[in-house]
Amino acid sequence: MPNQRLANLIDGRLQAPIRGAWLDVHEPATGAVFAHCPDSGAADVEAAVAAAGRAAAGWASTPVEERARALSRLADMIESRLEEFASLESRDSGKPVSLARRLDIPRAVSNLRHFAAAIMTWGSESHAMESGITGSGAINYTLRQPLGVVGCISPWNLPLYLFTWKIAPALAAGNTVVAKPSEVTPCTAALLGELSIAAGFPPGVLNIVHGPGPTVGQTIVEHPAVKAISFTGSTATGARIASAAAPQFKKVSLELGGKNPAIVFADADLGDANMAAIVRSGFANQGEICLCGSRVLVQRSIYAAFRERYLARVRALRVGDPNDMDSDLGALVSRAHCAKVLGCIEQARSDGGLVLCGGTALSLPGRCAGGWFVAPTVIEGLPSAAPTNQQEIFGPVVSLIPFEDEDEALAIANDSRYGLAASLWTQDLSRAHRLAGRLEFGIVWINCWLLRDLRTPFGGARQSGLGREGGNEALHFFTEAKNICIRY
Ligand code: NAD
Repeated sequence: MPNQRLANLIDGRLQAPIRGAWLDVHEPATGAVFAHCPDSGAADVEAAVAAAGRAAAGWASTPVEERARALSRLADMIESRLEEFASLESRDSGKPVSLARRLDIPRAVSNLRHFAAAIMTWGSESHAMESGITGSGAINYTLRQPLGVVGCISPWNLPLYLFTWKIAPALAAGNTVVAKPSEVTPCTAALLGELSIAAGFPPGVLNIVHGPGPTVGQTIVEHPAVKAISFTGSTATGARIASAAAPQFKKVSLELGGKNPAIVFADADLGDANMAAIVRSGFANQGEICLCGSRVLVQRSIYAAFRERYLARVRALRVGDPNDMDSDLGALVSRAHCAKVLGCIEQARSDGGLVLCGGTALSLPGRCAGGWFVAPTVIEGLPSAAPTNQQEIFGPVVSLIPFEDEDEALAIANDSRYGLAASLWTQDLSRAHRLAGRLEFGIVWINCWLLRDLRTPFGGARQSGLGREGGNEALHFFTEAKNICIRY
């Protein structure tokens, strides 16, 4: 699609931005502009919120079977065009097309199917009060009603995956949606918007407004008719959203940054499968996953041996054209982000860190000569307090940190303003349970990473966020609970 202009989806129609302004969308692997995204403004958001408001009552009273059918149809349509979606996602974000085909797009399909199924079996609580000495009892039942118009704002790292993770539960629960994908990677959400018309969502039920965060995103957040904001992105933006939403007592769900530890004990099974998983946890999607284990804590008794095996695997990772099936890593999402990651590596060097491998930008030949590639980088020798071990780099950069024993591992792991996810590698079952309870993170994986069951609560502690997504947590977020008490 050479320099295609993407459209907003407002009131069931694909529309150009009202003020006729457009943003360049780059292909990270080449650095070239390949599409244009609406540079929408407040008027586009206003039109979308108005359309969503008009559609709200009708969608809320649409039988769940019909809502579920529309979500399932959209899932089927995406699945039937998986190759097209995967190649668009890869082109837009720089990730290997093989990853988009294996992870991003299938997961987007699963998100839609999961919430289509979940809403069909969703029930609510009832609490019976015994009559006791008064002789009159009561029944309480909980109604969980849709909120009305809700806002969904998503980031660039897992574009369609996280976009659908929000809109699916919102729509399933009977809300109408004004959604804003990242302006850095808007393409697959735009294609989803086109398909949603044929999938049978009535006009105004799903609206997609493209554009920058400080204008389009902020206007959605501040709009009084938008009852809740589901946001995934950086901690800094999350704080801005929380403070803008607070005066209106608006519900917010915030999925923010992370600086996640992978904790490797001497008693871990470090066979090939687990070593591959530990490496993947640092470098999957070029390290641009909020859940990536960018601090690898290794028990000192195995540190030297582990480091050699780990480095051998990292050096073997192939950075290449995202279109090549054998590329393990593609390009970083933007020139600015690439510069930020390289700056973090420079900071590590100047703080006395030893770069064991990588540490530089890579120039690829041919079509990717202008792309934004960084070599997978492993650093050691920095204390837990160093910026390298504290700030979210969000690139292919891992820091190795030795520890003596369980207490020290726990102290280092918890020494962070973030609390999203930890992974623990040990064969000692008691230790696994002991530490799982004491790690201050929303998710603890034991002998695995990124193993996801969509019914489980997903989210972070501390500055990694507020609230939980997934399964019933998401359906609770997107509904208002009302207790009805009937005395008899
Ligand atoms: P970002 O915060 O810059 O942007 C995220 C989204 O918010 C984009 O759509 C952006 O346009 C919008 N936005 C920006 N300013 C806004 C404002 N003032 N009001 C409303 N919306 C605004 O984040 P990013 O760079 O796109 O994504 C990377 C970050 O996302 C990383 O910190 C990563 O850890 C985090 N992330 C978290 C999770 C999670 O589940 N916890 C998942 C993926 C990514």
